[in-house]
Amino acid sequence: RDADDAGSANNFRVCVRIRPENEEEKTGTFKQVVQVLDEQMLVFDPKTDNTPSFLGAPRRRHPRFLRRRARDVKFVFDQVFDADASQDDVFQSTTKPIIDGVLDGYNASVFCYGATGAGKTHTMLGHNKAPGVIVLTVQELFKRIRERQDDISCNVAVSYLEVYNERIRDLLKPSSGELRLREDRKGVVVAGLSVHEPKDASSLLRLLERGNENRTQHPTDANATSSRSHAVFIVHVHQTPKGAGIKADVSVAKMMLIDLAGSERATATRNRGQRMREGANINKSLLALGNCINALASGKKKSCHIPYRNSNLTRILKDSLGGNCRTVMIANCSPSSRSFEDTYNTLNYANRAKNI
Ligand code: ADP
Ligand code: MG
Repeated sequence: RDADDAGSANNFRVCVRIRPENEEEKTGTFKQVVQVLDEQMLVFDPKTDNTPSFLGAPRRRHPRFLRRRARDVKFVFDQVFDADASQDDVFQSTTKPIIDGVLDGYNASVFCYGATGAGKTHTMLGHNKAPGVIVLTVQELFKRIRERQDDISCNVAVSYLEVYNERIRDLLKPSSGELRLREDRKGVVVAGLSVHEPKDASSLLRLLERGNENRTQHPTDANATSSRSHAVFIVHVHQTPKGAGIKADVSVAKMMLIDLAGSERATATRNRGQRMREGANINKSLLALGNCINALASGKKKSCHIPYRNSNLTRILKDSLGGNCRTVMIANCSPSSRSFEDTYNTLNYANRAKNI
């Protein structure tokens, strides 16, 4: 990468996280198809010399992935996390650096991309014993604000919404029903979205929890707890220097933390009817996000049109993706041959985003 690239690469980081195999994937019929070589490099479907012919097993009975030739593709990303990476490891090298940007007035977005079951929600939310990126980010943000409170007064306001079937719902005020997007001089706003001002990290995290209980979740064939909705957590940070006059510089920035819906194609699940329609719409938002990423990647040197308008998700993201914004994409993958196609698709998607 030349110096130019290095500069802008800092604004858009692409990371990959490989989760541990689950019990089912550890069984004999599956094998690992992702090999992490170092902190930035992995091989998908590596060539191996352990084809178990010496066991005397007839060749035709080998699972399909052992019969065909390995793809053996090397990928390089800003950061690769293997199955041993802790939530804190992920936080330290993804969103922690972004907090500086937000406190300097730059908008930011963090999103997890990947198939259902690949580890997006684990990465973003985690659980009590292993809190995820959103939780760690919020705690760090409040810590930093406390450290500066003698000089700067700071307000934090949060909203939490869901894009489900291209419909926008307020997760912190579900009674509002379907919300619409409106464009005014400040940009795209979600009309009627509730805004909350938690006084500390723990009250903010209670809001997050309340919102999660209101998420739309549908069991599907692919995964009983899969989520087909995009969950967008928005943190506004409003700063004013203390002791300054009314002409003081006010810094306003926001951070969007997004748990995207599963990226598997609608046709890959055995759903019909309602589920199918959801799939099509999820793809609409994910497709639009992919198209924005492509446009950002190819238009780096020249100013080119970014098609934010093509879905509600990308309209909401418009002022937090590209340009001066700091973005981290975390591509979540299963290591197992059971998710061969999904993992390959996710790695290729992430690989395109690398050019931004
Ligand atoms: P997604 O949100 O992408 O559908 P989940 O985050 O729900 O996937 O992960 C699927 C399952 O795998 C969950 O049971 C989750 O706890 C587990 N899991 C995912 N990533 C990890 C990880 N890095 N370490 C341990 N368990 C994980
Ligand atoms: Mg999930």
